[in-house]
Amino acid sequence: MNIICIAAHPDDTELQCAGTLARYAKEGHNVTIAVFTDGSMGDLVIKPAELTAMRKQEAKNAADVIGAHFIWGGIVDEHVFTDLESRRRMIDILREADPDVIFTHAPNDYHPDHKYVSQLVFDSYFQKGLPSMPNQNLPACRFGQSQLYYMDNLCGIGFNPTEYVDITETFETKKEMLACHISQAAAFEDMANTDMMAMIEIQSRFRGLAAGCKYAEGFTRVDAYQRGLTRRILP
Ligand SMILES: [Zn+2]
Repeated sequence: MNIICIAAHPDDTELQCAGTLARYAKEGHNVTIAVFTDGSMGDLVIKPAELTAMRKQEAKNAADVIGAHFIWGGIVDEHVFTDLESRRRMIDILREADPDVIFTHAPNDYHPDHKYVSQLVFDSYFQKGLPSMPNQNLPACRFGQSQLYYMDNLCGIGFNPTEYVDITETFETKKEMLACHISQAAAFEDMANTDMMAMIEIQSRFRGLAAGCKYAEGFTRVDAYQRGLTRRILP
């Protein structure tokens, strides 16, 4: 299968979905990590151009850990809107990955970029397979419904998983991927007085306790017409 996680910022995927993606990769599936924005606002001191270059490399390094295909959306950080241009960009990203399974933020996430990326994915994941969509850069991928899952948010506030993936065996890989985001470990300290690695250890353990394993990531499935209702396709 082709799997994509598309998130607003570099590090969002590693925080919420990397253990699951590592499991897919281990099982031989094709994994894509797409970052919609350039992450250029994610520091109080480092200037946007320099920060963008740093974060792009950090995100690429994280994707390389599991051999994932990497897509850089390049939208300016904190400037995601559900306009036509953004929707076209999202459709092209999804076409490049041609996914069977899509992970993205939940619509009730705390960050506006996350909410709008979630909406853009929802607005684009059927349209990616329509051959006559105007003004797209890439041709339509396979027609049909992908299965869409929403992922957890920081500290799981207001998010109630309905499905879990046991990431006990890939938790070290998740930490390795997250550790690639060196700039963000510092930013979490500076902007939120938070140890990023400790936070994700606790959250993964907490989800694991709920699921009956050591470490887990939690998701909710988008239940809709003909969208994967007959089978579980999470690892
Ligand atoms: Zn984010």
